Amino acid sequence: MFPFELQVVSIPVKNSFRGIKFREIALFEGPAGWSEFSPFIEYDNKQSATWLKASLEAATKPAPNPIRNEVMVNATLPNVKPGEVEKLLSNFDGCTVIKIKINDFIMDRELLIESLKHVPNAKFRLDINGGWTLDEAVVNLKNYEGEFAGLIDYVEQPCLDIADLKALKNEIGLKIAIDESIRKFLGSDLTKLKDVADIAVIKWAPSGGISAALNLIEQISLPVVISSALDSSVGISHGVALACVLPNLYGACGLATVALLEADVTTDSLLASKGVISNRRVIPDRINEFKVDQQRHKWWQDRADVIYEGSLI
Ligand SMILES: [Mg+2]
Repeated sequence: MFPFELQVVSIPVKNSFRGIKFREIALFEGPAGWSEFSPFIEYDNKQSATWLKASLEAATKPAPNPIRNEVMVNATLPNVKPGEVEKLLSNFDGCTVIKIKINDFIMDRELLIESLKHVPNAKFRLDINGGWTLDEAVVNLKNYEGEFAGLIDYVEQPCLDIADLKALKNEIGLKIAIDESIRKFLGSDLTKLKDVADIAVIKWAPSGGISAALNLIEQISLPVVISSALDSSVGISHGVALACVLPNLYGACGLATVALLEADVTTDSLLASKGVISNRRVIPDRINEFKVDQQRHKWWQDRADVIYEGSLI
């Protein structure tokens, strides 16, 4: 049996980020404080096991000593209509780096233009989630480079294939960050990723927690951006703790994503304030407002039990 009693909540999500309207999140408290176990519903047990490992570590072990007390954060824009940009950006106080989910240049250049109206000194990170072929990446990124010269901080995972990324690197002047590639490449020689990218995007839970992430980061040896996966403030607090121990942080982190949720598990949310988030633990004092029914609670407790007992972690 998983040694902790889970508290499961369902939090409404703004703009159906990732196509979901509600985010189910399991929380529990261990000797080191509150922790979060929230792999997406469709993830299988093997995939979810690293998330459970992360959550157990956070509940039972204090984070290593930080070298900073706050982290700079970026605004995160889902692929919305230009008319929604202003309102969304207002939830990211003081953030001048804006990450945008991009389909292509024609459809989405308006999102950058609109963002610049509200944040005139904005720098952009374009996240493609591996959605382009090499040819599509070259055409789209040359267009972005042309129209927004000097304003693109980096492009995140333009193609999935490592060989395509390497070829792309020779074609464009933009920095390339990898995200999905890292998880796909686990078990291979991670030092090779240096040849295809400039920045590694690392997440606390899918990496298996702070110790596992530090190990991964050491092997990849690229500058790092810590990001998140639509976590509550509890999960975010562990991502922030990870970012606060890293010597090779690249810049603003994708940790202000509680702003994409309609509500949070705490009255004291970890949101961007003057462009930063401070490093502190979070007490989820709003659990009762968002509790799921008995059936969903059992589903989550069973999920944790099966992974824990199957020694998948
Ligand atoms: Mg990404």
